Amino acid sequence: MNPIVQIARATRPIFRSISTTTPVASAKPIPTTGLCFELSDEQKALQDLARKFTKEEIMPVAAQYDKSGEYPWPIVKKAWEVGLMNGHIPEHCGGIGNFGVFDECLIAEEMAFGCSGITTAVGGTGLGQTPVIIAGNKEQQKKYLGRLIDEPLLAAYGVTEPGAGSDVAGIKTKAEKKGDEWILNGQKMWITNGGVANWYFVLARTNPDPKCPASKAFTGFIVERDWPGVTPGRKEQNMGQRASDTRGITFEDVRIPKENVLIGEGAGFKIAMGAFDKTRPPVAAGATGLANRALYEATKYSLERKTFGVPIAYHQGVAFMLADMATGVETARLAWQKAAWMVDHGQKNTTIASVAKLHASEVANKAATDAVQIFGGNGFNTEYPVEKLMRDAKIYQIYEGTSQIQRVIISREAIQAAKASM
Ligand SMILES: Cc1cc2nc3c(=O)[nH]c(=O)nc-3n(C[C@H](O)[C@H](O)[C@H](O)COP(=O)(O)OP(=O)(O)OC[C@H]3O[C@@H](n4cnc5c(N)ncnc54)[C@H](O)[C@@H]3O)c2cc1C
Repeated sequence: MNPIVQIARATRPIFRSISTTTPVASAKPIPTTGLCFELSDEQKALQDLARKFTKEEIMPVAAQYDKSGEYPWPIVKKAWEVGLMNGHIPEHCGGIGNFGVFDECLIAEEMAFGCSGITTAVGGTGLGQTPVIIAGNKEQQKKYLGRLIDEPLLAAYGVTEPGAGSDVAGIKTKAEKKGDEWILNGQKMWITNGGVANWYFVLARTNPDPKCPASKAFTGFIVERDWPGVTPGRKEQNMGQRASDTRGITFEDVRIPKENVLIGEGAGFKIAMGAFDKTRPPVAAGATGLANRALYEATKYSLERKTFGVPIAYHQGVAFMLADMATGVETARLAWQKAAWMVDHGQKNTTIASVAKLHASEVANKAATDAVQIFGGNGFNTEYPVEKLMRDAKIYQIYEGTSQIQRVIISREAIQAAKASM
């Protein structure tokens, strides 16, 4: 057996058993052999590589980056080198182009077991790239995705603003057409990788008529970080996932060539929203990884810590919290697996992607809170690993659509289905 795989298998933590199967490649034919819960050999190797990377590169420095809030460039560069980033970038851009969303999720779950902040730092570029993957033309893809293959550079996704997050149609950043260029003005907020990205996907209003529907009023642009008028703000001091870089960005009379419009004028809203079908499953996978870490730490501790003459794991009140965590990890994993599998096979997955994101983020928060409870006073202290998990977990209920917005999407579908059957 390959030594990398051997080491990774030997260090496998608990509750990593359930998996599903699909060949590695996007737009794959749907298997006709029925449901199967086995990873392909390629996926097992990828999972093992991500697990080994997490153990050796992320876990030893996770607490240090959490404390300093520094951007983990050395880890990002190593992840880029070993092929844990950008596997979905197509061959015509110089990439290998054979990762599906499922494969990205496998990596995200493993890495978030080690540190979900570093996972967001490494994975946030995928969110920025997705609009270009789904809507970029060949030239745009070659130019902007290709440079991410040539060098360890990053992309970012710029939609949210100080005045509008959930209500995307309320954004105020605007772009006006002047000859062959667009002039961009406005401000974005909470942009992951905002200070470290080489280029951004930016959503701007291009039709000022308030009566114009969202599906036609906005345009998506590729904007380079180094262009005059682009100014990232200070790094935000967040509650958790502190290794990730979150910033506001100001755009002042930024000149965008018409070649940097995605699809065409008015297509931006659908591109920005459509990206989530591919990016919510990896977020759900990250939350699953965090929940699994909470379970792992809490189980280990509860076997070491004794009260009333027995390890606390043998008190039913504690054991049931472990059971709930394990149940959450298994079901969250199944949900991201289905959401990723569907989109990789060309099926509409918007609702299940929301189910996965909602469920996994709730599971992560409950698991992390219960882990702190199981650690007792120690759980409240920074010397132990679980308080970081609790701080890191919270953002999963907020970014890429809050838990309330996921419920809006899921309930809309449920209501439509009910109406259709009446
Ligand atoms: C660390 C971090 C990283 C982020 N990264 C990015 C990024 O890379 N790119 C990007 O564009 N954005 C990013 N965001 C922004 C994030 O997606 C938004 O913060 C999020 O969508 C919520 O928007 P908001 O903060 O404006 O809250 P609001 O939209 O003002 O919502 C406030 C509260 O009201 C609730 N609410 C709103 N509308 C409804 C409704 N219809 N029904 C029920 N409840 C509702 C919300 O759920 C929430 O609880 C990031 C945010 C953070 C904190």
